[in-house]
This record gives sequence, structure tokens and C-alpha cells, in this order.
Amino acid sequence: MLEYKAGWYGREVIAVDRWYPSSKTCSSCGALAEKLPLDVREWACRRCGAAHDRDVNAARNILAAGLAVSACGDGVRPPRS
Ligand SMILES: [Zn+2]
Repeated sequence: MLEYKAGWYGREVIAVDRWYPSSKTCSSCGALAEKLPLDVREWACRRCGAAHDRDVNAARNILAAGLAVSACGDGVRPPRS
């Protein structure tokens, strides 16, 4: 449904990999938190100190990932260490 409705409005749907660490990646500096249990709704980045609401931070990261795919053809899979 999302894809055909996006087509009505000339928009593009980009699926982000389900394992992309959108919640535990700092949307300010890109640092990755080691663990972030589901009951932790707010957290602070250890690298830059930015305070995050879990869902708002995830939304920012998903938007950035989608824009990176759209603009640069970047991938949306989680980075491999
Ligand atoms: Zn940070």
C-alpha cells in the first residue's frame, strides 16, 4: 500500500533494514551505544553527551538513512565491525 500510494504523489519509498541500529546510534555524532534495552526510553551519548529520546533519535537516524539512499545511493544495512 505504501508504495502505490507514494506513487500517486510522486514519492519514493525506501525500506531501511530491520537490523539497522536506528535507536542506539547517536543522531548527533554517529556513535553506537553498546546496549539499549527496550525499557530505556531516554539516553545520553557517551561520546558527545547529547541527550536523546529513543524514538525521536531513531526517527532522525531513519530519515538520515533514507535521505542518504535517495541522494547518494548509500546502503541501509547495519555497519559491520
Ligand atoms: Zn553522540
